[in-house]
Amino acid sequence: MELFHMDLHIHTVLSPCAELDMGAPDIIRRCIEEHVDIIAITDHNSSRNSRAVKKAAEGSGVEVICGLEVQSAEDIHVLCLFPDPERAALFEEWVNERLPWILNRPEKFGDQIEIDEKNNIIREHEILLVQGMNATADEIIERAAVAGGLSILAHIDRPVYSYIAVLGMIPGDLKVDAVELSGCLSGDEALEWKAKTGGRTVIRTSDAHRLMDISLDRTTPVMLERPSFREIEMAFKGESGRKILWPWGDLRTPMEIYQEGDLPMK
Ligand SMILES: [Zn+2]
Ligand SMILES: [Zn+2]
Repeated sequence: MELFHMDLHIHTVLSPCAELDMGAPDIIRRCIEEHVDIIAITDHNSSRNSRAVKKAAEGSGVEVICGLEVQSAEDIHVLCLFPDPERAALFEEWVNERLPWILNRPEKFGDQIEIDEKNNIIREHEILLVQGMNATADEIIERAAVAGGLSILAHIDRPVYSYIAVLGMIPGDLKVDAVELSGCLSGDEALEWKAKTGGRTVIRTSDAHRLMDISLDRTTPVMLERPSFREIEMAFKGESGRKILWPWGDLRTPMEIYQEGDLPMK
């Protein structure tokens, strides 16, 4: 088993709110500099650029998971991740069919640029991606599971676009695979949030909209056999020694906590 650092929430130039430095090779270069091993590309309501980033990562040692950050009818953000680009694209079709036909106004919301792995522009995405789709958060979670994906409640510690902010609490029987906290929280704050969720699997991410947001301190340390979607799925469930090593309430490194056999969570 090996320690990896993963960041499962990164935007690209396809998200109108992201900076134009979020190109495919640029994200990979930044991950290599910051020693980030596994990332998920999760643009708002679209997985198109995740394929470009996955291609740009070939041979780099960075594992890229294809996904999207879906906005529900109640304006809740849910990260949906898939084992391969094809399954992400199929799920995206389901999202597209339920997105209102409101066109993007780049001067107001920002550019939505579809790129290839070398940052060549393929097209401007016309339908506005930052809007709620016609499905509830619970329906999105259920659909992602049927499509073979994982779902994560995004930034539950934030006052907007989060399940807790909108609905007040996370029902115990909600079949979401993990919950996400902002990367800037301290370990103690994160432990409090974990308790509030009834001890669900918690991860931290950068929710990067600019290259400088991607950094080792905002990753989730995780023990896996190898970096892959299936292994992450096992780590979420704490299966066969795969483990999420966060949050921790002391100053030891995740590796020290692991080696001492004193893991604060599954
Ligand atoms: Zn969000
Ligand atoms: Zn986001």
